[in-house]
Amino acid sequence: MKKIGVLTSGGDSPGMNAAIRAIVRKGKALGLDVMGINSGYKGCLAGDFRDLDLTDVSGIIEEGGTILRSKRAPEFKEKEERAKAIRNLSQNEIDGIVAIGGDGTLRGANALNREGVPTVCIPATIDNDIYGTDMTIGVDTCLNTVVESVDRIRTTASALERTFIVEVMGRNSGYIALMGGLSGGAEVILIPEVEYNLEEVAKNIYNGYKRGKQHMIVVVAEGIYKEGSAAHYVGKNLKEQIGFEVRVTVLGHMQRGGNPSAYDRGIASRLGAEAVTCLSEGKKGVMLGLHGHNIETVDYSEVLSNKKELDMELYDLAETLAQ
Ligand code: ADP
Repeated sequence: MKKIGVLTSGGDSPGMNAAIRAIVRKGKALGLDVMGINSGYKGCLAGDFRDLDLTDVSGIIEEGGTILRSKRAPEFKEKEERAKAIRNLSQNEIDGIVAIGGDGTLRGANALNREGVPTVCIPATIDNDIYGTDMTIGVDTCLNTVVESVDRIRTTASALERTFIVEVMGRNSGYIALMGGLSGGAEVILIPEVEYNLEEVAKNIYNGYKRGKQHMIVVVAEGIYKEGSAAHYVGKNLKEQIGFEVRVTVLGHMQRGGNPSAYDRGIASRLGAEAVTCLSEGKKGVMLGLHGHNIETVDYSEVLSNKKELDMELYDLAETLAQ
């Protein structure tokens, strides 16, 4: 292995740049050339590559987003299209790729690996919904943003004695809502994995106020309601039932942005460097997962054939602590 490529694909997440930096610097330390592939698999198809040197990754560890950018490339699912990408990679003498991203990115890396280009994947998505790793790059920063927002909302909620609904990301996974709600001390958490009953929620809120609670914060995952805004739906329904003022905040893309936390920079640096070591030792077709504090390799087939389940004990804990 003389030259490796690095790409970021799918939704961006804070810490991707720290991973790119680690890949370039570890690569150079091992005597490898490193090429950046712009715009994810789109750049593979277009041959949009650039050399990355030590100084190209200076001053990016603290930046959110990705210097390599990320574009959707649905055509990469077609084998004939990928053949073009493989030709481009070979013409540029790229011997292996580190792909940084979520589930779709992993599927692309799996296909390339099967078709003869060695790849290693690093899980990066704010949803933390990838099987085979405790944490993905970007989740911690996202949760810090959610918690900071909930804290700010609670200050005004206490002053005004209102119920606040805070909608967070998570179409299919309630991870952000659960962990953001647990760490933010929300009174109610609604997630796609658990059926909800808004009459029950309204009763809890009403009883909470009667017990002397000053504020009520309901954290909802966007995926609990498929026909529109989850927060507005829940807000309207609760207002009708309890008759109090209900205010709605949708955090939206704020959750993706911002400077990566120390934790995300740390795991991105470790995973990035380890991915290069793996490729240089001839390992391929694996994702690097975090198990506790250790990095372990997991075969793509295992990652892709399993679904990461939410830890329901944490959901029960959040309910107990919210009283
Ligand atoms: P994420 O990696 O965050 O889950 P996407 O699902 O958008 O993001 O996937 C990112 C990119 O990965 C897609 O734009 C496409 O280029 C590639 N991709 C996704 N699924 C496949 C697949 N089944 N086969 C090959 N490439 C895929």
